[in-house]
Amino acid sequence: MHPPSLSNRSIEAYAAVTERDRLERLRSLADALADARILHLNSTATGGGVAELLRSIVPLCNDLGVETDWLVMDADDDFFEVTKAMHNGLQGNAEPLTEEMRATYREVTEANAAEIEDEYDLVLAHDPQTLGMLERLDERLPDAPIVWRCHVDLTDPVDDYLAFVSAYTDPIDHAIFSRSAYAAVDAPATSIVYPSIDPVTEKNRSLDEGELATERDHLDPLSFDAPVVTQVSRFDPWKDQFGTLKAYRTAKEEVPELQLALAGGMAGDDPEGLELYEQVADEAVDDPDVHVLTDLPDATINALQRLSDVVVQKSLREGFGLVVSEALWKRTPVVGSTVGGIPLQVEDGRNGYLVDPDDAPSTGDRIVDLLEDDERRRSFGDNAREHVRERFLLPRQVVDLLEIFVTELA
Ligand code: UDP
Repeated sequence: MHPPSLSNRSIEAYAAVTERDRLERLRSLADALADARILHLNSTATGGGVAELLRSIVPLCNDLGVETDWLVMDADDDFFEVTKAMHNGLQGNAEPLTEEMRATYREVTEANAAEIEDEYDLVLAHDPQTLGMLERLDERLPDAPIVWRCHVDLTDPVDDYLAFVSAYTDPIDHAIFSRSAYAAVDAPATSIVYPSIDPVTEKNRSLDEGELATERDHLDPLSFDAPVVTQVSRFDPWKDQFGTLKAYRTAKEEVPELQLALAGGMAGDDPEGLELYEQVADEAVDDPDVHVLTDLPDATINALQRLSDVVVQKSLREGFGLVVSEALWKRTPVVGSTVGGIPLQVEDGRNGYLVDPDDAPSTGDRIVDLLEDDERRRSFGDNAREHVRERFLLPRQVVDLLEIFVTELA
């Protein structure tokens, strides 16, 4: 296990975007946890929503006076191939689950658990990758409650995979899901906590005119003098970049100068990414208005989400989809599928549109509806910003988590 390097956070930085009551609640919960030492566990330091969340939550909790560590599992591609199959299986895609895969999972999780030597008062383990560590951790830290935070869409899991992970869930004292429909794993206590975005990061902070101009240059040859529709996602079959390409082609029949930006990265724990990237890039090669962009720095993603006319997130499964709130926070309307956490964020006809995940043509029509009406885009953008301010900013999520910690440690 290894600790990622993190930059500092100060709670003061959130005062401008958070109501005073919420900040006070946060401080009083942190005071109640002043003697506690908390450990977060996950399987990657970069890429994907969980790493993104932990990079903010962990330093903010430390700033609030709650001693919080984060350790990332050490593992190689063999393990990540198994955990990717688990992730896919839990989201409903049947892949074989062999004895060898089960053994790899057991070995790697146990070896990582054996490396944790410090004392902690509470352990928060993220996602199925960490479950195999819990039994050993429970033996090592018998007094520390174990909280499991599942970020995966568990509405329709494949039985084999659900049974496989359920065999590891005994040590869990409290399970947290992003929606009640995902609570497919039994635990003595269960909570629903919505994820959140961090408004002070490079990814989400406001950019002045000069910074926007610099980032525009970085995105060249994508031009913001013509309409741009964007998707920001890991290259992953669930994110359905091919469906977005189809929707773009439908929209382009009405708006011929339309461009599509598909920005994506490969998460450290996702070996499928490169292959899919190559397929998407191949599919787009004949259209100069499709821009497949990889590994953009956060400030460039920020500008891209801000400058795009419409953001699309037509996932086939989606635990939450931080990218949706990221775009909405920047006043960019989102056309998203009625899947997972997307409908929590996209209010149909108020800050974007909801579409059937299998219906690329209507997705294209909705993109056109927004592109053809500047006033609608502006008013949707205002609604979008307020919706995220109320529900999906970091201080709200940290309040929810600290409330669970206080209850578990009482
Ligand atoms: N992301 C990024 N660059 C990329 C693709 C994604 O920085 O090229 C970030 C994105 O901005 C978001 C996170 O990765 O913060 C993805 O989180 P989300 O919940 O949308 O999806 P996940 O990858 O966890 O399934």
